[in-house]
Amino acid sequence: MRCVLVSKRLDLRRYYGAELARTAPHLEVVDHAAGAPANDVRVALAWHPPDDAFERYPNLQAVCSIAAGVDNIIACPSLKPGIDVVRVVDPGQAQLMFGFVAWHVIGHQRGFAGFRAQQRDRVWQRRDQRRAQEVPVGVLGSGAIGQRVAQDLAFLGFPVMSWSRSAKPVPSGVRGFDGPAGLSAMLDETEVLVNLLPLTSETRGLLNGTLFGKMRRGGYLIQVGRGEHLVEPDLLAALDSGKLSGAALDVFATEPLPHSHPFWDHPKIAITPHDASDVSISAVVTTLAATADAICAGRRPPHAIDRARGY
Ligand code: NDP
Repeated sequence: MRCVLVSKRLDLRRYYGAELARTAPHLEVVDHAAGAPANDVRVALAWHPPDDAFERYPNLQAVCSIAAGVDNIIACPSLKPGIDVVRVVDPGQAQLMFGFVAWHVIGHQRGFAGFRAQQRDRVWQRRDQRRAQEVPVGVLGSGAIGQRVAQDLAFLGFPVMSWSRSAKPVPSGVRGFDGPAGLSAMLDETEVLVNLLPLTSETRGLLNGTLFGKMRRGGYLIQVGRGEHLVEPDLLAALDSGKLSGAALDVFATEPLPHSHPFWDHPKIAITPHDASDVSISAVVTTLAATADAICAGRRPPHAIDRARGY
């Protein structure tokens, strides 16, 4: 089967070419940028595709993301309605994400920023040692990654709550909430808020002043979903008023974050460059190969998302 690599941001062949040749030699892989032959292409591997990319492939049946999120693919204007969009589900990525989130949750609990400031000023002073049990964490999103993060934070002793669209079973030691009323109830008790939602029309702009207003005073935001979830001026206002004591931001509405952006210099903001957790190369290639196999067998690809729902 012929597969096209489509991205305006990344050289996908550089990342995935060797693994594709090694483990999926039955796929004939061509490059969109090189003006790939079009009629035989039935599957694409894509990341931030150009707006008109999919016009060239009249027999395309599925587009695989290289990530857990698919928002940049769904947003592509040339993606026709019937085409399946497939995401990657990689347990190794969920484990990496847990480590990233735990770093910031514990950093807030133990006041790591305060120690750094003391070291800079050569100050020897012990600080209050809060127990994990005193720091309730709310996780937005109870999916493949959110569930793993919630479960492992609970194992560390934090009181953990998780929020999803529909009511669903949650890991042991975690309290589940769902729907708009569930969100308000969870926020009432939340000190550290972790955003692990997909970007959809319902979740865009969810991290705003109203939401911050419902959290505990002095709360902390860990933003690892998508940049467009956050209303940036509302975060700055919440930090400046003391409603929030800090924020760790990994994703941004504009990436790379522009040099002149006020987040860079803000003393209460920790920035990482969309580096919280990667999918492994082998997980991407396995997903692509499984998608091609499903198409050949006339089945729906595993991990095809619900396009009406947006995730
Ligand atoms: P999943 O699709 O497995 O889970 C999504 C979760 O969000 C589900 O629990 C779903 O609810 C919930 N959800 C979706 N819409 C709503 C809504 N309107 N209201 C309440 N809950 C909602 O996703 P993953 O866990 O695999 O990944 C989540 C996101 O994390 C990705 O889409 C991406 O944005 C981000 N991410 C960021 C990375 C980074 O490096 N910064 C790396 C990887 C992922 P329900 O269970 O009811 O369907």
